[in-house]
Amino acid sequence: MIIVFAEGLSKDSVERVEIALRRAGGEPRRLASEGAAGRLALECKQTLSADARAAIATLPGVQFVLDGDAPYPKVASAAGAVKVGRTTLGNGELTLIAGPCAVESEEQLDASARAARDAGATILRGGAYKPRTSPYSFQGHGEPGLLMLRAVADRYGLAVVTEVLSPETVPLVAEHADMLQVGSRNMQNFALLRAVGRAARPVLLKRGMSATLDEWLLAAEYIADAGSDRVVLCERGVRSFDPAARNLLDLAAVPLLRERTTLPIVVDPSHGVGVRGAIPPMALAAVAAGADGIMLECHPDPGVAKSDGFQALLPAELAALAVRLRAVASALRSSAVGP
Ligand code: PEP
Ligand code: MN
Repeated sequence: MIIVFAEGLSKDSVERVEIALRRAGGEPRRLASEGAAGRLALECKQTLSADARAAIATLPGVQFVLDGDAPYPKVASAAGAVKVGRTTLGNGELTLIAGPCAVESEEQLDASARAARDAGATILRGGAYKPRTSPYSFQGHGEPGLLMLRAVADRYGLAVVTEVLSPETVPLVAEHADMLQVGSRNMQNFALLRAVGRAARPVLLKRGMSATLDEWLLAAEYIADAGSDRVVLCERGVRSFDPAARNLLDLAAVPLLRERTTLPIVVDPSHGVGVRGAIPPMALAAVAAGADGIMLECHPDPGVAKSDGFQALLPAELAALAVRLRAVASALRSSAVGP
């Protein structure tokens, strides 16, 4: 069992929880101390009665309690907020990540980045290495694509997030990107997870298309265990029986993750739904569900896109949606119930 504390709690509340655990037969151990990067958390290996567990979960200062055999202690109590360029994901402000599915050309990327910046995005997305289902589909421009991403993002004052497909290319991608993306198809590529964990860059970890929340959090734990707990989780939909949508966007994952981890959470409704008209309402719903950030694909001319054109928003659609996303985020902040 792991008990994770809220930020800025008093020393007394920690001691009160430790006393309660000992009284219930537990032997608590502190996992992180004040001043360390992560949240303060206690680990208790002994099994407590259901009543004692429920009482501890409601003590002042306790944010959440994880049952089981400490499956992911590092991501349960990570520092939380993750800085990417000039943005901090998970600091209470809504972060917008936007850009094309793939880097295609200088003109296409420039127009997409301008649309992203004009909509208020602070992070530019775009694949230079594309994980395509078919080996005959456009695979991305590779290193020249990375150079384009860096140059165009700098032109518009944006940070870069881009996918890395193999452990060998992590150093090269990390040289040009501010954040490394591990895609859905690679969520359980353990060599890649360890490699991105060793790189000096934050990681956007997309949910595997049939991964449970625990499998996803354990994938994040691989990254944290390799050296970096600057991980952001990205919900992008799971496989379902219904071909009406590309995937089934699991928005319940947002509040459910909040009871298991302090890591920031982003939602990607573009891949999550894959139907252009359904993307804006699901993006708004994701903000209402508590997402720290939204990732959206956009393209100046979706009809000629080399990948995922059917789910790309036009610049004007992105701008209109961004206004509504911020309105929902601000309504949530102003109606928040105090501590
Ligand atoms: C992407 O974001 O470029 C992508 C390929 O998404 P996913 O890994 O979620 O399919
Ligand atoms: Mn895509």
